[in-house]
Amino acid sequence: MQISHQKISGWGNYPQIQANVATPDTLEELQQYIISQPSIITRGNGKSYGDASLGSHVVSTSRFKKLISFDSENGIVECESGMLLAELLPIIVPEGWFFQVTPGIKNITIGGAIASDVHGKNHPGKACFSSHLLSFKLMQADGQMITCSRTENTDVFWQSCGGMGWSGVITSARIQLMRISSTRMNQRTIRCENLEQLFKAFSENESSAYAAAWVDTTSKGKSFGRGALHLADHQTGTQALNWPRKKAFTIPAFAPEWLLNSLTIRVFNELIYRRNKSQDKIVEMDAFFYPLDVLNHWNRMYGRRGLVQYQFCLPENQAFEGMQKILNHISRSSETPFLSVLKRHGDRPPEAINSFPIKGYSLALDFPRTKGICAFAKELDEMVWSFNGKIYLTKDACSKPKMGRVDPHGFSPKFSSALRERIS
Ligand SMILES: Cc1cc2nc3c(=O)[nH]c(=O)nc-3n(C[C@H](O)[C@H](O)[C@H](O)COP(=O)(O)OP(=O)(O)OC[C@H]3O[C@@H](n4cnc5c(N)ncnc54)[C@H](O)[C@@H]3O)c2cc1C
Repeated sequence: MQISHQKISGWGNYPQIQANVATPDTLEELQQYIISQPSIITRGNGKSYGDASLGSHVVSTSRFKKLISFDSENGIVECESGMLLAELLPIIVPEGWFFQVTPGIKNITIGGAIASDVHGKNHPGKACFSSHLLSFKLMQADGQMITCSRTENTDVFWQSCGGMGWSGVITSARIQLMRISSTRMNQRTIRCENLEQLFKAFSENESSAYAAAWVDTTSKGKSFGRGALHLADHQTGTQALNWPRKKAFTIPAFAPEWLLNSLTIRVFNELIYRRNKSQDKIVEMDAFFYPLDVLNHWNRMYGRRGLVQYQFCLPENQAFEGMQKILNHISRSSETPFLSVLKRHGDRPPEAINSFPIKGYSLALDFPRTKGICAFAKELDEMVWSFNGKIYLTKDACSKPKMGRVDPHGFSPKFSSALRERIS
């Protein structure tokens, strides 16, 4: 087992901490490490934005990458928890299968997908990753391994889905996939002149399998909250299926910090608005589901200071009023989000107690990290709380875990991240 002392961070590059990172090769090594350390946190591929996978002692699953089985008749895959979605796609897609739920990035691990209980652009129809998870194996604080499913260790199963790694180390999982017969999507873009139109467009297009909107949070007056809703459905077809092995461009270095300021962000949003004309087109799945993956290290555009993503969800009956007030508050402040994404969410399965989405709408805001951003996030927290909303802990770098409405006290004290330690 390799153990190294290194500086690590999440995707937001903030915060950065010095950590002992242990990378076990076997379950026995993992067990020894868990038993020997008073406090550890698991790290998958470090693509959570904030400090969910940061701690003084980190255990990496990067060597747990074995495909255990793939039943291509029934679309059931079992693999170790360090496998990336990107590593599974070239195996499952040619056999006519895809993930029922996928986030907007494919370079995340299966363990990370479970621990954050990730959602996609189809939450009203398919809920979160946990809804299609058949079982997983978990190594607990005493080093013992248990299997968790809807019939075995059920409480731990649901506690771990969205439990941010606080229940133990997930070592492998079995997942039910979804049938596809084409790698193409029918995509419709609806450009909307303001926030009201965006909400209307969401509710008038509930039959689309996928929906997510880009929002221009810098627009004011009549075009306040303008944006573009992207809808999509899978095409059907009879041609052979392939997952493209495309090369992504890499942003080679950190951009200077002045590059993203309120003026350039406004110009950038204006350009996106003009580009997003209402239209129908056919796009490849890779481009639809993972548009940001075409640029490796796009987080470097924010410079060395990094970025803080703040994603919150408000219940349906308060979502429009809440979003309006929160966006107004942001536009009066000195903090300007670069990119913002609005999603609609459906009912939360009652047993998925730690999943982020609640029936309503969520907005994800990418803020360049400034000196005042955490104080500002606390102002947003108060507003979100007053609208009975919550935040997504896997994006968080500033708020208290209670904002995610996940109870940290219910978990073993052994598994603790910087996020969890912000409890008091
Ligand atoms: C560009 C981008 C787009 C994104 N889009 C979405 C989206 O659309 N929807 C969405 O839901 N999320 C989205 N995310 C967030 C991302 O999907 C989650 O943060 C995911 O958990 C990251 O997985 P990871 O393997 O990198 O985990 P890490 O970042 O390493 O860890 C995330 C959490 O999972 C825990 N964990 C990881 N592996 C294990 C394990 N084996 N056992 C126990 N706990 C574990 C960690 O302790 C930590 O709490 C996006 C992130 C990026 C960068």
